[in-house]
Amino acid sequence: MNTVADAPRKGAFGDMNDWLNALVAHRVSAARSAATPMSAELAWIAENPGHTIYQRRSLFVVGVALAIIVGGMAATPGILPLALSLVGLYFYVDFYSGILHVVLDNPRFVRLPLIGIPCAEFQWHHALPYDISTRRLVHVFGDINALVLGKIVALVLLAGVTRMTVMVTAVGFFWAYVNQYAHRSAHQAAAKRPPFTRWLQRHGVLVTPAVHHEHHTTHDRSFPVLSGRSRHLVQGLLRLVPNQWVWLTVFGVLTVVDLVAFARFMTWLAPRLPH
Ligand SMILES: [Zn+2]
Ligand SMILES: [Zn+2]
Repeated sequence: MNTVADAPRKGAFGDMNDWLNALVAHRVSAARSAATPMSAELAWIAENPGHTIYQRRSLFVVGVALAIIVGGMAATPGILPLALSLVGLYFYVDFYSGILHVVLDNPRFVRLPLIGIPCAEFQWHHALPYDISTRRLVHVFGDINALVLGKIVALVLLAGVTRMTVMVTAVGFFWAYVNQYAHRSAHQAAAKRPPFTRWLQRHGVLVTPAVHHEHHTTHDRSFPVLSGRSRHLVQGLLRLVPNQWVWLTVFGVLTVVDLVAFARFMTWLAPRLPH
């Protein structure tokens, strides 16, 4: 029988994705030999052994998103629309990360088309919470490549390419990457976190390890991971509307229209702002 003692050792792997994938295989094989019921993410990988949970994401897509972040902010049609977008989307992205997390954490969604694989990959973070802090930051950025590409398509088709829409996209992607960084930092040992990151956590700009740890105790609360500020709002909404299909629908709709709607709102608002 497989034991913790013969678990793959980190030092034996050059790339942390390979180590984590070896841990996945080890966990599944241990659960098989113990003949205990498997959690959804274990059962899924046991049935789909060909799928790699921890992937080397396309760094080209990450590069495109970083170029949009820098170029889009630099090309803003005004300082005030940029400042308003930075503030508004900071709060929105935290809330959206909470909704995304509620949906991708759902073990029943692992069997759905389209969203099933992201759910299985996402839920392995509960089994191996240190995965995010051991993988390189660019791969953690790359975990949202599909979202980045989907949002680019939605923006081009539904909002058109203007300086305002590219700026809003840039700010949305900026906070989405900060969200990934914040989640990763919440799992890092204090000594590994730069002083500025610890300062941002202490002042509530980025989610604190303590607030995020609440999620990893029971997996049913403290869902947002940018600042964690909207966790009570998300919890209240979960109590109010517990239906999982409503959450999945809202997540799908927001994923397509949120930045489009914000870009259109800013396009309407900008001429009305003081110059
Ligand atoms: Zn979770
Ligand atoms: Zn986490």
